[in-house]
Amino acid sequence: MAEQGFLKQKPGFATIAIHHAQEPEKWNSAAVVTPIVTSTTFKQPAPGEHTGFEYGRSGNPTRNVLEECLAALDGGRHGFTFSSGLGATTTLLGLLKAGDHILSGDDVYGGTNRLFRNVAAAMNIETTFADFTKPEEVDKAIKENTKLVWLETPTNPNLKIADLATISKIIKNHGQHIIIVVDNTFLTPYLQRPLDFGADIVVYSLTKYMNGHSDVIMGATVINDDELATRLRFLQNAMGAVPSPFDCYMVNRSLKTLALRMEQHKKSALVIAEWLEKHPKVTKVLHPGLKSHPQHELAKKQMSGHSGVFSFKHSGGLQESRKFLSSLKVFTLAESLGGYESLAELPSVMTHASVPEPQRVELGITDSLIRLSVGLEDTEDLIQDLEQAFSASF
Ligand SMILES: *Cc1c(COP(=O)(O)O)cnc(C)c1O
Repeated sequence: MAEQGFLKQKPGFATIAIHHAQEPEKWNSAAVVTPIVTSTTFKQPAPGEHTGFEYGRSGNPTRNVLEECLAALDGGRHGFTFSSGLGATTTLLGLLKAGDHILSGDDVYGGTNRLFRNVAAAMNIETTFADFTKPEEVDKAIKENTKLVWLETPTNPNLKIADLATISKIIKNHGQHIIIVVDNTFLTPYLQRPLDFGADIVVYSLTKYMNGHSDVIMGATVINDDELATRLRFLQNAMGAVPSPFDCYMVNRSLKTLALRMEQHKKSALVIAEWLEKHPKVTKVLHPGLKSHPQHELAKKQMSGHSGVFSFKHSGGLQESRKFLSSLKVFTLAESLGGYESLAELPSVMTHASVPEPQRVELGITDSLIRLSVGLEDTEDLIQDLEQAFSASF
């Protein structure tokens, strides 16, 4: 199997996901399953005194359980949840002030790109974009006022890999205090743990693999540093982009099957990627688990395998892409990724339509680049579906 040689899985992952912070003894009822506490306010024994909770925005018992569990899965000390992945990113902007500079990867999530270019820019926080597969470019792009470095690895939709250890070292060498953020949505801590490689903050759209059932929008950050965590705790409450207790319950429940789900996403996607690579209409498959991936060796050093999301290019154009995507029957034509159901999409007109065209062209996000999110259906059924869609469209 091509997945051999990847970083060894941290032992105990599934046990942490199931048991960490979930002790029944913390509830009067000794409930084995974490209850949903909907109360927005908590009785205080005396004015100015409280027993851990005051008001639901600053802390909630259901949310706390999830935040502690998330932190443990990434080997971090502090977890924070938000009303969406972009809500988490917006809150991180609160760490910056006018005049600061962000250095970002050049093919990060479209919504992150839009937030930096349109929202942060209006607050006089400038962002420049660099190719993080080239550490020397990252080094050169750091400015005196750079306060935050934002990267995704693998990237979306090109599945490029950034060398986390090397880039962290370069950034730390600059001396000034720069916060390194890694958006780990594509892999989850089951497949990659950025804090182990020098990142300061890990960000998630929990909406994707972490919840995994395409029925919750939520985000999170995980941090090791106590001082940074204190600032984040303040911002979480002060900016207010917090999730509902019900959604926290849903994600906490979903974490119980994260290891099982990721294992199957990983296996199935690799089989499909290998199948696509042999298909006569396919010109390129972008999947870090394939030997043909230009950074396969680097991927093996920092990842414990790859998830279910990857892209491929075919020999047709926009018309073939349209026909192919509307012919699929098991895959659903939709944005997003990471759920139990398989999805397919055309980044150039869907997820990445908000990226300006010149930048899109530069990144190779063409009308023949299709992104898949391989779900948990039977692999054979997914392959048959792709095969019939190729036949119907070429
Ligand atoms: C979806 C996504 C986000 C944004 O998360 P939301 O929960 O949709 O706000 C951020 N980063 C990546 C990599 C994503 O896929």
